[in-house]
Amino acid sequence: MSVEKRGDVAIVTVFCKLCDATITVEVPLNLVENASHFPVEYAAIHGAPAHGLTLYFDRQFNLRGTEIIRNIQVAESDATTKLVPKKIASIPPMAVSLGMISKKEFKLLQQCDGKRSVLEISKKVGMPPAEVEEACRQLQSRKILKLDEK
Ligand SMILES: [Zn+2]
Repeated sequence: MSVEKRGDVAIVTVFCKLCDATITVEVPLNLVENASHFPVEYAAIHGAPAHGLTLYFDRQFNLRGTEIIRNIQVAESDATTKLVPKKIASIPPMAVSLGMISKKEFKLLQQCDGKRSVLEISKKVGMPPAEVEEACRQLQSRKILKLDEK
């Protein structure tokens, strides 16, 4: 566990038991500056299936404890239900072994038929909608797919 202040955020490195891995969370410094009670909590929602790791900070921004939230529901944003990605480049499976595209991106691309929304695709591939959206935006900037609004 470590807390490193950088600009107006604290970079917190913390072990998540559920992921069985160390995760990095950016916490705004004004979380502590503006807090009216301590410890002040900050929930990092991450992973697939999505879960939360609540971090508790004291006045000095020391990490005093963590707590896992297993069962959460994240409200779907409009974007994930309206955005429809469509594959515009043909990517052979070989592109994965050549390292041109990750396995995850390739799996995602199979679903981008221009009919399914980001939300529907996220359920199909078992990734959080925000992660699918982010991956689609990256693929769009590489001209592999196109994002349309329904
Ligand atoms: Zn986790």
